[in-house]
Amino acid sequence: MNRLFIFFFICGAGVSYAQPELKTENIILITLDGFRWQELFTGADSLLITNKNYSKDPLGSKARFWAETAERRREMLLPFFWNTIARQGQLYGNRFYDNKVNCSNDMWFSYPGYSEILCGFSDDARIKSNNKIENPNVTVLEFLNRLPVYKGSVAAFGSWDVFPFIINEQRSGVPVNAGADQAEGFVLSEREKLLNELQPQVPAIWGGMRMDAFTHHFAMEYIRKNKPKVVYLSYGETDDFAHDGRYDVYLSSANQTDRFIADVWNVIQGDTHYKNKTTLIITTDHGRGTVPLDNWRSHGTEIPGADQIWFAVIGPDTKPDGEIKTSAQYYQNQVAKTAAAFLNVQYTNEKPVGEVVTSMMR
Ligand SMILES: [Zn+2]
Repeated sequence: MNRLFIFFFICGAGVSYAQPELKTENIILITLDGFRWQELFTGADSLLITNKNYSKDPLGSKARFWAETAERRREMLLPFFWNTIARQGQLYGNRFYDNKVNCSNDMWFSYPGYSEILCGFSDDARIKSNNKIENPNVTVLEFLNRLPVYKGSVAAFGSWDVFPFIINEQRSGVPVNAGADQAEGFVLSEREKLLNELQPQVPAIWGGMRMDAFTHHFAMEYIRKNKPKVVYLSYGETDDFAHDGRYDVYLSSANQTDRFIADVWNVIQGDTHYKNKTTLIITTDHGRGTVPLDNWRSHGTEIPGADQIWFAVIGPDTKPDGEIKTSAQYYQNQVAKTAAAFLNVQYTNEKPVGEVVTSMMR
């Protein structure tokens, strides 16, 4: 009996890693829909920000988000990413350093991307549309919700109304507040009552997608009240404003999402239940095209570069390496197992899952 065998024998169920030094007890996984690595690492795009076809307020956008250097532009656009995550956490996917993160699915749109993030593998044979089809695959959220330690302590919030299907809310038992869903429960906070009242009063710009402010505040109220150990939080506006060809609003929405994520971080770091025991992992479902033509507005297999994505991570077990500048290749399918590994849980599925990004952990 070799040592490896003894290790697995002792662990029995095979759900525990020999990493007792990890401090993470809670995971918050966050996604921004279709937000490009180009803006994450270089800020506003010079070819788009002043293009009158893509902006109703080029001067306003320029005043808020334009500077000569990429370092300054990205900090103006995403102050939390570049003042806090870059100093205390890590950012992957700057292709100017040959640090690459890609989708492994061949679809390069939302349902396949979210399913790959959450399940840890692509399933192009079955996950090939954005239709409201119950995901046949088990996500890491469902996997964790089946373990006694996490049962009832997993929750998901999304702006897009397809998430109850991607997460298979019914089978998984993971509550998903998405689309036009409201806060539920016997005792609602004053903020939840107001959000419930306001949400149907605010014009819906897109079918099936609410504004991210509702998703964010429903999630924050739930976190304050219920202290879940595992939260998935999905912001959606960036993708839809890009499809609409509104680069000015794509930028301001990304900037607001950065503030939302700062709010998540500040709330958990101000709460003894979460402080210094919570890791945030942030990523996106797909990339999008670039100029010339209209390609930046779109994504999908026919758009070159739409499989190019990024990761960010911050928490008590992550070294403050900031922007990763080494040549490497990562995939979207690594997020699920990495998220579980932070919790000292070994995530497995029916299919092989992407490996843990070990450099994210001390
Ligand atoms: Zn899209």
